[in-house]
Amino acid sequence: MTSKKDVYFVIGGSGFVGRHIVEQLLRRGDNVSVFDIVQRYHDVPFYSGDISDQEQVSTALRRSGATCIIHTASPPAGLSDPALYWKVNVDGTKAVIAAAVQNNVRKLVFTSSAGVVFNGASLTNVDERLSPPERPMDAYNESKQKAEEAVIAANGKDGLLTVALRPAGIFGPGDRQVMAGLYKVYEDGKTHYQIGDNNNLFDWTYVENVAHAHLLAADKLDHSPPAPLFSTLEKTPLEAPP
Ligand code: NAD
Repeated sequence: MTSKKDVYFVIGGSGFVGRHIVEQLLRRGDNVSVFDIVQRYHDVPFYSGDISDQEQVSTALRRSGATCIIHTASPPAGLSDPALYWKVNVDGTKAVIAAAVQNNVRKLVFTSSAGVVFNGASLTNVDERLSPPERPMDAYNESKQKAEEAVIAANGKDGLLTVALRPAGIFGPGDRQVMAGLYKVYEDGKTHYQIGDNNNLFDWTYVENVAHAHLLAADKLDHSPPAPLFSTLEKTPLEAPP
């Protein structure tokens, strides 16, 4: 069931996943605006800004009248710039939370990543109870994990309800990373390299399903009680298989 006419504010709404979220919200008749450092589409109100600047987020939120934020913004994975990841994903997400509280926003859905729990070993039949490894895979995943932690810690405080989703690899129309990366491997003539014994598995989700999950998560936040993620996790930690 859809919440009573939330006003949506999609941070990173010019991006791959963000754009699909915007389109799905428009299809079901919702009021939506976009906040991003780049404008790629012109069919919804657009606010230009950087999430690491709380004032910019706050001003845009006030103008948009948003009641629900869907925060998908992040620099792409794979950059060798830990400071950028920290600035945007950790400080930026904290700025989004503070701006949300400042503007009485009720709901925040955050796009985290399955990478936050990846430790280099196979993960089979795991769920949200799996804790992040002691040593994160890289700066991107560390920053996503810290951001997720801040989002979950904000749940139920100052009138804000929050949830974080951990998609794995995402494919589909509008992707600028995965297919471009695969094609570059082909162009560079590196297709004869193989990592592992050809039995490696990786989880992929179609982008429309990832976008739909964000809408469902936003709607579900209206139905209390919200999932007690970390309290459950502390009581019944799920072991990764050896
Ligand atoms: P994307 O690069 O297509 O979109 C990200 C958007 O965020 C871009 O439009 C970008 O301009 C914007 N952005 C970046 N820095 C910003 C800032 N400082 N302030 C405001 N906007 C900013 O990426 P995507 O593939 O759509 O990924 C969306 C989210 O999903 C990210 O949080 C990413 O970590 C997560 N994720 C992606 C994948 C994947 O396979 N693509 C997998 C797991 C998780």
